[in-house]
Amino acid sequence: MPEILEAYCSECGDLTIHILLRGGSNHVVRCRDCKTIHTITPGRERSCRLRVVVSRGGTTRRCTITRRVGEEICTGDEFVVEGVDGEPRIVRVTSIESHERRVRCAEVGEIDTVWARDVSSVLLKISLNLGAVTKPIKYMVPGEKELVIGREERYKNIVYVVNKIKLRDGGFAWRKGRKVFAKDVKRVFASLATDKPRQQRTHPEKSL
Ligand SMILES: [Zn+2]
Repeated sequence: MPEILEAYCSECGDLTIHILLRGGSNHVVRCRDCKTIHTITPGRERSCRLRVVVSRGGTTRRCTITRRVGEEICTGDEFVVEGVDGEPRIVRVTSIESHERRVRCAEVGEIDTVWARDVSSVLLKISLNLGAVTKPIKYMVPGEKELVIGREERYKNIVYVVNKIKLRDGGFAWRKGRKVFAKDVKRVFASLATDKPRQQRTHPEKSL
């Protein structure tokens, strides 16, 4: 994973995740959302340490992040924390506690705890339709992995077709060609890919 950091993007008008292209006294960075390249000067602003509870798979861990005082944090926001292995991880805010109440948004300085989900890698859950039975499959994928309705995916020796996706925020994606990030998936409904195209291929050694 390339080095990632947060910076204010004037194009997006928001604090977004950036990819570091070149370090130094002025960083050259690219906004992940709008792909704009700009330079930033790592600043020293009044900041505050925030308690973050990060869940990943079935486990949770505590960490702290430093944020600018007055900055608003909302559920659904994504930011970078250091993982247990020291690698940066992208997490998405799922809940915020401010003055002992659960809120959707709050300013840094007014926040007791932030709950977040690690979306750098997520557990992809698949219901594979085998006709009479449904086989559940689970495996870890990068959160940024794109799944496309109607497209084939491979897991070990299984090639399956994504038919429908249950989304985390409710509802389904089913229209052919629709793209969904793995981090937004609740469950994938799939069927085995047919191997017809491979059978149609003629073997060169047989044709004389
Ligand atoms: Zn941007």
